[in-house]
Amino acid sequence: MEPIGHQTGRLAAFDSLRSNVAGTLYEAGDPGYAELATPWNVAVRTSPAAVLEAATADDVVQAVRFAAANGLAVAVQATGHGIASDLDGALLVHTRQLAGCTVDPGGWARTGAGVTWKTVLAACADHGLAGLCGSSPGVSVAGYTSGGGIGPVARTFGAASDRVRSFDVVTGDGRLRHVTAKSEPDLFWGLRGGKSSLGIITTTEFSLLPLPYIYAGALFFGTDSVADVTAAWSQWCPTLPPEATTSLGLMQLPPMPGVPEPLAGKFTVAVRYVYTGNADDGARWLAPMRAAGAPLIDAVQTMPYSMIGLVHSDPEDAMPASEASCLLTDFSADAAETLVGAVGPETGSPQLLVEVRQFGGALSAEPEIASALCHRDAAFGLYSVGVAAPPELPAVADHAAGVQSAMNAWQFGASLPNFSAGGGAAGFAASYTPDVLARLSGLAAHYDPDSLFRLGQVPAR
Ligand SMILES: Cc1cc2nc3c(=O)[nH]c(=O)nc-3n(C[C@H](O)[C@H](O)[C@H](O)COP(=O)(O)OP(=O)(O)OC[C@H]3O[C@@H](n4cnc5c(N)ncnc54)[C@H](O)[C@@H]3O)c2cc1C
Repeated sequence: MEPIGHQTGRLAAFDSLRSNVAGTLYEAGDPGYAELATPWNVAVRTSPAAVLEAATADDVVQAVRFAAANGLAVAVQATGHGIASDLDGALLVHTRQLAGCTVDPGGWARTGAGVTWKTVLAACADHGLAGLCGSSPGVSVAGYTSGGGIGPVARTFGAASDRVRSFDVVTGDGRLRHVTAKSEPDLFWGLRGGKSSLGIITTTEFSLLPLPYIYAGALFFGTDSVADVTAAWSQWCPTLPPEATTSLGLMQLPPMPGVPEPLAGKFTVAVRYVYTGNADDGARWLAPMRAAGAPLIDAVQTMPYSMIGLVHSDPEDAMPASEASCLLTDFSADAAETLVGAVGPETGSPQLLVEVRQFGGALSAEPEIASALCHRDAAFGLYSVGVAAPPELPAVADHAAGVQSAMNAWQFGASLPNFSAGGGAAGFAASYTPDVLARLSGLAAHYDPDSLFRLGQVPAR
């Protein structure tokens, strides 16, 4: 086969892959290519050499083998919520057609790589079962879970990756493997936290929890309450039991459809809250925050677990965004004051949202079966997102970096794999301890001998 360059021999070589797959292959310029190659964050421009919309697990096998034979890097995309690099010249495997979703009333689910949490939540609702999704049900189960998956009930139930029973995965050596804790313990360890460093997951099977209802939602306060509510939240968090998971959002939402009138165009603060025990206890624990100011909106109530996406109400539509995140050792009163001083009202902050998530509880315990997910002992996560496309993007990113510097006294000095998109290999590496990174790199060398998954992931050694 001719080597694939940007010009020479390209069509002929891709034709050989095209003839081996049930799905559709799009090369740059083909109708359909741009739609598939555009991530959720449209400020990230990607330019893969081609996109294979895989229809079967065997298509993924063919793609990986083809890439190895032609010296291409391979990347994978389901929803595009966390694309890690520009994918320049790579073969992108798009998984949205791998859409099988089985929910067993006995308490487990099996999902194809293209399935989002939205589908799982809907399929679980009638059975009173809950999957450990993140704040945005629009992300894929595979992408989220392979990065650990730390969501709005994490303090009660830990990380989503701790609930995985098995994966089907195409490793870099072009083999489709069924991976369990018993059958391939090393791979099972690395796939739970290592994202796509070792292969492309085609199926995830995971346990569900019996949790039909939660006491959950958000309290929203106005501009004048931002400092007081942030300070009160910092003092309230350490008092909470593991049944409660909370985050604080400093928000500047634009006036647009879907944004409630009291919040539109204003600087507000939201206290997000999920209580997994009974509602009366949940209300008792929340009482200090209800009293921290006069809420503009009090949307905390008993709701079906399937509506958990309402707690954060993350944007669903694609948008141009500049994201940044880090982990914190603490969120003391001083930290709260510093954060408000850096991004509060009257600072001219360009960030749409600056969010602090409380970790701890069940998340900080090591799981029964160890995994590559690190930094479970971080106390809080700090995340910011600004709506920005070039040329404003660097200014928003610089501002976010400044906010993180302002919080230096509380920096944990690491990140999480699901929040390191855009940081390249270095950002991704910061998601792991040196020991875990070394073990992942060793596994990558074994399972991905041609370093096909080299883009923004763990370097093989
Ligand atoms: C609005 C928003 C809210 C979020 N909330 C949370 C949250 O609460 N908790 C949390 O932990 N994360 C959260 N995230 C991060 C999110 O979980 C990651 O970005 C995740 O990677 C998205 O997966 P995806 O497949 O939907 O995205 P994609 O951009 O399609 O994929 C991102 C990456 O996931 C990996 N991946 C995807 N599919 C596969 C596969 N089949 N096999 C192997 N690897 C794969 C790859 O490394 C890929 O580069 C949030 C992100 C956004 C944008």
